[in-house]
Amino acid sequence: MDCKTAQGLLEAYLDNELDRTEARELEAHADTCAECRAALDRLDALRRSLRDTSLRYTAPPTLRERITATADAELPRSRRPMPASWRIAAACVLAFGAGGLSVHMWNSAQSTQIEQEQLAHDLFASHWRALAAASPVDVISSDRHTVKPWFAGKVGQAPLVQDFAEQGFALAGGRIDYVGAQRVAVLVYRHGQHLIDVFVLPQLPRPEQMQGYSLRPTMLDAQPAAIVTDMDPTELARFAELLSTKR
Ligand SMILES: [Zn+2]
Repeated sequence: MDCKTAQGLLEAYLDNELDRTEARELEAHADTCAECRAALDRLDALRRSLRDTSLRYTAPPTLRERITATADAELPRSRRPMPASWRIAAACVLAFGAGGLSVHMWNSAQSTQIEQEQLAHDLFASHWRALAAASPVDVISSDRHTVKPWFAGKVGQAPLVQDFAEQGFALAGGRIDYVGAQRVAVLVYRHGQHLIDVFVLPQLPRPEQMQGYSLRPTMLDAQPAAIVTDMDPTELARFAELLSTKR
């Protein structure tokens, strides 16, 4: 098994989704490859920290009953059966409107928190996979006129691609990655030994730090984006400034 294959299987491995042969092959590789071992450990540590029960909110049984009861009561009124998720959503509005507004707000703040944690997890995981991969880019080019058209048809909107080689941040290329279930464009830059990923996202993430890596939200032209790198804060700020200025 090579590193690229191993890196692609890490998440499935931790989810116990691999068959025995694949899992053994991955373990054998990780035993002899320090890079993949480290990537596996990082991913595992990240997942364990996200599994922390303090991040979760479990609905009390009474609330659950009220929602179910309201959903059942609502059903005969509709001519066509609504999807279950809509019934629950409609019931939630009713149930919370009937006196649980603060619970609702707290609950949605919690779910936003979890979504943001998940987004950060996906972005760091993608960056680390890229670092461990044989090549962190799908299209290798320092020419923005090659990189931009490469994205066309692969993502909804090709991002603004600029090169900052003169300022010390050279365009290395681009790739397509999955963040959650969404295909996103990633612009890849290099600054000395540092690899910089710029993810073009449907929403702005929150700033985050993890194991020496930074996630910094920014705007790329009019598109929300996230810079993920291990550069120091001063260099990161300088890069973010360049990136957000259309020249
Ligand atoms: Zn490896």
